[in-house]
Amino acid sequence: MNASVKQRYFDHNATMPLAPEAQEVWMDAHRRAWYNPSALYRGSLQVSVLLDEVRERVAEYLQCVPGCIVFNSGATEGNNTFFHYVQRVFPQEGILLLSKGEHPSVYASIQSLFPGRYEWLEHDVHGRVDLEALEQRLKRGGCVSVSVLAANNESGLLQPWRELADLCKRYQVWYHCDATQWLGKLPARGLGACDFVTVSAHKLGGPKGAGFIKIPQACSLVSLLGGGQEMGHRSGTENYPGIASMVRALEIAQDHASKGTDARAKWRDAFEGALLKAIPKVEIVGRGAERLWNTSLCLMPGYDGVQWARKLDRAGFCVGVGSACSSAKETASSMLLQLGYSERVAKGAIRISSGWSTQEGDWQALLGAIQDIWVERNAHSADTSLVDIDTL
Ligand code: PMP
Repeated sequence: MNASVKQRYFDHNATMPLAPEAQEVWMDAHRRAWYNPSALYRGSLQVSVLLDEVRERVAEYLQCVPGCIVFNSGATEGNNTFFHYVQRVFPQEGILLLSKGEHPSVYASIQSLFPGRYEWLEHDVHGRVDLEALEQRLKRGGCVSVSVLAANNESGLLQPWRELADLCKRYQVWYHCDATQWLGKLPARGLGACDFVTVSAHKLGGPKGAGFIKIPQACSLVSLLGGGQEMGHRSGTENYPGIASMVRALEIAQDHASKGTDARAKWRDAFEGALLKAIPKVEIVGRGAERLWNTSLCLMPGYDGVQWARKLDRAGFCVGVGSACSSAKETASSMLLQLGYSERVAKGAIRISSGWSTQEGDWQALLGAIQDIWVERNAHSADTSLVDIDTL
């Protein structure tokens, strides 16, 4: 990349930069609150009190009791933990329901731990779960849990988690809500009504390697055995600096979210509208459905997603491809395949996701860069070394 090209970051759903305030809290905790909170001297007891305080702050945001918040390393751990817990409580029988578009840490866990014991939920064309069909399924009985994420990491599609929490409560089935993409972008209020909620700090402006799982009150998670930290739910010395930094980032994100996101959604919508006009055959996944204000999943013609991403990188724009945040970057998104898109079309996807610092001009600049790449492609269309995905 030309070092003089300003890099604009459009992959916030993969990870966010650490918020400066969260970095300050992290450094300060390492300077002053680095003691092991389980020891008995004053410094440790102070860290233990600080840990209780940040737990209370998270619980206030979600509207649940502090004892339901268990700090861990992030959402992959949280999702795996949930399914190991289900396996411990229901070792032999009971069906697990999940939506299409769940993160791989959800469906890979289910596939590995519960072969033959899971069912996909019905959904509309965008992937939003069909609540009536779910209710019919729950009426038939035999289900133990429902896993539906709050917001999709690739398309930004929002799921009706409040209604799902009510429905699951009525049928006495656990509702597991992966809120990783929701919490840093939309208000957390009410999430505590879901039985299990999983979250990663780095998706909301906090540090990598921290997160939490919200559990029901009468639950003995025992996700890691050892010293019995986290009220016995998860052993291992607590990462207080990471946790405190995450909670500061959460406060900042929630403050942004409380001020409204309509203007930001309009910038994204204007970008999409102009893109659809400028380039034939583009499809925006979930357009018309309720989505996160920051996300645009574009199925692009001309090149595959990896080629688009490399060209945009050279032009100064970071966008995602394939399955969000996974190491298998060259593979087609499993979410798109689950929704019925062909592998050829899915491979043309680029994932665009803005952050709180992204401005209208950044969206316009991104559009301009995409148009330039398209014009250049057409100018060289006689060049047979170009892969035209339409002709594959
Ligand atoms: N769930 C969702 C919806 C995600 O977007 C991600 C990260 N892509 C995860 C879970 C896993 O998070 P982490 O990699 O931080 O463990």
